[in-house]
Amino acid sequence: MSDVLGNPAIPPDASDSLAVLEKQRSTAETFGIPLAVLLEVTHRCPLQCPYCSNPVELDRAGKELTTEEWKKVLTELAEIGVLQVHFSGGEPTARKDLVELIKHASDAGLYTNLITSAVLLTRDRLSELADAGLCHVQVSFQGTEDIAADRVAGYRGAHHKKIEVAKWTRELDLPLTVNAVMHRQNLHQLADIIQMAIDLDADRLEVANVQYYGWALKNRAALMPTVAQLDETTRIVEEARERLKGTLAIDYVVPDYYALRPKKCMGGWGRQFFNISPAGKVLPCHAAESITGLDFESVRSNHSIAWIWQNSDAFNRYRGTGWMKEPCKTCEFREIDFGGCRCQAFALTGDAANTDPACALSPLHETIFKQAEREAEGETNRFLYRNFAGGTLEPDPGESGKHGA
Ligand code: SF4
Ligand code: SF4
Repeated sequence: MSDVLGNPAIPPDASDSLAVLEKQRSTAETFGIPLAVLLEVTHRCPLQCPYCSNPVELDRAGKELTTEEWKKVLTELAEIGVLQVHFSGGEPTARKDLVELIKHASDAGLYTNLITSAVLLTRDRLSELADAGLCHVQVSFQGTEDIAADRVAGYRGAHHKKIEVAKWTRELDLPLTVNAVMHRQNLHQLADIIQMAIDLDADRLEVANVQYYGWALKNRAALMPTVAQLDETTRIVEEARERLKGTLAIDYVVPDYYALRPKKCMGGWGRQFFNISPAGKVLPCHAAESITGLDFESVRSNHSIAWIWQNSDAFNRYRGTGWMKEPCKTCEFREIDFGGCRCQAFALTGDAANTDPACALSPLHETIFKQAEREAEGETNRFLYRNFAGGTLEPDPGESGKHGA
């Protein structure tokens, strides 16, 4: 991808970059528009995962873009060169118009992926989605055992339903990705999760360790794994990758608290990724609204999506390396990891321009590493469930065995 800001062909004060592009017959590649975009079509979700990547301040249904507004977004995305859209949430199937939106995206030439918790789907509706042009399904799992997995989801019967939907997906000849979010309370099931993905005939398995912002940061003490657990996880993933070459592709996202260098979050702020929130905000990452003081433009504004991507303050604030302070500013890795995660830097230091404390060169690294180690000892296992009420603390097992939505 070319450097958007460094492209002299695009005037810095262009009022509408899309128009400029059209005039210049430029391509999405030279402009740098991401090829895949995440659409969070709603924050509504019947599940209550304590690690949910949605912001703690969830968008209510009344703020969501309408069917026509989402259709306009999809048309615009296709026009500016986006090739793939991920329908996510919240739970995207909570939107009654999902079939219509998938059909619109498909007609516009977009490859469509559905990222779903699966619990609201029926076989008929999945079949309708397939007929509308849905290309791929990604089902998230909380574990492999009904009771334990349903407890994490905060929804009784969720695991059983997910298995059903995964089977329907393959029966309808749609490619399937199993998405497993891992943490201290389910890492012991990893080998079984890999086997479950094989049994479900998945093409791909995403083993994603929890990243700690939003709801996950609130639940960090109940989710943080031990160093020994992580070493074992890495060993299992590496062994399975070798053994299952050609059968199951395994993506592995490591937790960065125990790393020496931070992840290249989102491929670098405003470089390869944007997502659109239920209310239409165009965001450099799905957690970006956790950074206060940044003003995110909306698709409801007078600006095109291409203009927002190229010119808006929120995207330009942490693009490239010019915004960096020490130690990132003069670090040899600054164009490799772009200083790590801005949301994590903000959450842990109060300033998104600081070095991500996941980096060993951050003055805070030692402190957060020690805190992670302390929390991993497991003083509390109770979850704060994600919901519109700001969270509900899991009942004390001593008081009640009940859980679920
Ligand atoms: S992480 Fe869980 S609660 Fe959050 S949107 Fe996904 S399924 Fe719903
Ligand atoms: S100091 Fe900054 S650029 Fe250097 S490794 Fe750490 S986060 Fe990356």
